[in-house]
Amino acid sequence: MAWGGSACAICRSWQRQVFCAACLARFAAPPSGAGQALGAAGAVCAVCAMPAAEPGALCARCQADRPPFERTIAALRYGPPWQRVIHGFKRLEGAGWSRPLSDLMQAPLRAAYAEQAWPQRIVPVPLARGRLLARGHNPAWELARCLAAQLQIPTQPSAVLRCRETPSQRELSRADRLHNLRGAFVLAPGAQGWFKGARVAVVDDVMTTGATVTELALTLRRAGVQSVHVWVLARTPLDMT
Ligand SMILES: [Zn+2]
Ligand SMILES: [Zn+2]
Repeated sequence: MAWGGSACAICRSWQRQVFCAACLARFAAPPSGAGQALGAAGAVCAVCAMPAAEPGALCARCQADRPPFERTIAALRYGPPWQRVIHGFKRLEGAGWSRPLSDLMQAPLRAAYAEQAWPQRIVPVPLARGRLLARGHNPAWELARCLAAQLQIPTQPSAVLRCRETPSQRELSRADRLHNLRGAFVLAPGAQGWFKGARVAVVDDVMTTGATVTELALTLRRAGVQSVHVWVLARTPLDMT
């Protein structure tokens, strides 16, 4: 986790890690259990990691309309100070932070799979080619790559391709967002066999509405994937229905 810099990415204090121990103790979740990282509010939905009435319960939305993925594991709540850190990570300025950020996902993941088999494949949510070129890297792949190495689970950067990027979806209803994303992902030629019958973890940096991972999970399920789990660094508690 050591790096060449000299300031904590959160508090700017001098030290040798990307995030200092004091900031991690203050802002990162204690490794207390799957999804509990979403914080003070406590219980989160086992499927989508949004707040739920009690631990293990499903939120009202998942009860009414079950997503095509089975569970979501989020390490952090999207908000200060992680919002700023993740913005930096998305730009190349934070490209070297993938290891310490993926480290934050380890404890919630290990807790989540204490009594369940691990996924057999890891895939990052892909960026469309234009956006990848503009940005210089795919943060989801940076996280996926680190997790795959640490957990010894196979991954590939482009087993799934994104045919197009969708414009900002912030103003759209959930139904419109899902409609916009329809057909956005395709399997790479030859990837079908790699996926068929496998339990797959989809990795992204931030999960906001869930529309993107929903469409990706649908694509994978249609390709014969047995189950899809979603692993995200941060889950935004904001939800615009
Ligand atoms: Zn700090
Ligand atoms: Zn839910």
